[in-house]
Amino acid sequence: MRVLILGGTGDAAELAARVAAIPGVEGITSLAGRTREPSIPSGNFRIGGFGGVSGLASYLGQMQIDLLIDATHPFATQISENAAEATAEIGLPRLMLIRRPWEQVKGDRWLEVENTEAAAAVLSPSAHRVFLTVGRQELSSFAHLQDIWFLMRVVDPPHPDAVMPPGLILCDRGPFALNQEREILKYHKIDTIVSKNSGGDATYAKIIAARELGLQVVMINRPPKPPGEQVTDVEGALGWLLAKLGKQLETKGIGDRG
Ligand code: NAP
Repeated sequence: MRVLILGGTGDAAELAARVAAIPGVEGITSLAGRTREPSIPSGNFRIGGFGGVSGLASYLGQMQIDLLIDATHPFATQISENAAEATAEIGLPRLMLIRRPWEQVKGDRWLEVENTEAAAAVLSPSAHRVFLTVGRQELSSFAHLQDIWFLMRVVDPPHPDAVMPPGLILCDRGPFALNQEREILKYHKIDTIVSKNSGGDATYAKIIAARELGLQVVMINRPPKPPGEQVTDVEGALGWLLAKLGKQLETKGIGDRG
C-alpha cells in the first residue's frame, strides 16, 4: 500500500517516521519547497508543487498512490482544496490530520481576528513593539505600519526586494523553549504578539510567555479546510491508515491467510 503524505509540519514528519515502520506500507512525503533547508522526512519524499488539481491527480495515478493523508499546516488552504478535488476526481480515500487549535485560558489577553490583514488593522494605536510570528510570506501585510517596530521571526530571510515593515528579522526554527521566548519578549520590550492559531506544542511557548508577562496577543483564527474525514493527531491518522490496510488485505483475501 502506498500513501502520499502532504507535509510541511511536525505532525507530517512524525507520521512519516511511524509509517516507515509499518511493514507493507510505503510512505511518500510531499513538501512544497518553501524553506531552503527543509527537515528531511523518513521514507521517500518529493519536493515542489504538483501543478494544481490536475497535476496532483496525475501524480496520484502515475505513482499508484492508494491513500492520501493531508497533514499540511492549518493555514495551508490551497493544497488542501486541491487534494480534496483531486482525490474526489479519482476516487481515492483522503484524510486530513489537523491538530487542535489553541484555546484561550485564564490570564490570556487575546484579540481574535480572521486574517492577517485584520491583524494589521487592530495593532494601532495600542501596539508599539510587536513580535510578528506569521511567517515570511505574510510580512508585507504589516509594511504600511511605519510607527510600529516589529521583531519578525522567520525560518528563512525574506527576499531583499520584499516590502517589509520596520524592525528586525530573527531567523530561527521551532520548537521554541519557554525560557527563550520569555527572554526574547523581555529583551525586545515587546508589548504585543501576532500569531496564527497553529496549535501544537512547538510554538506554544510564546503564548505562555505572553500570559506570564500580561502581553496582548493578536490571534489569527484558522481559515476553513475542505470537508472530509479528519483526525487531530498522528495516532488518529495511523488508526485510519491501519484500518484501510486491514480492509485492503481482507479484500485481497490475505487477511484470512494471516
Ligand atoms: P498553500 O497556499 O495551501 O499552497 C500553495 C501551493 O503550494 C499549492 O497549490 C501547491 O502547489 C504547493 N504546495 C503546498 N503544500 C504542498 C505540499 N505539501 N506538497 C507539494 N506542494 C505543495 O500552501 P502554503 O500555505 O504556502 O504552505 C506551503 C507549505 O508550508 C505547506 O506544505 C504547509 O504545510 C507548510 N506550512 C505552511 C504554513 C502556513 O502558515 N501557511 C506554516 C507552516 C508550514 P501546486 O498547486 O503547484 O501543487
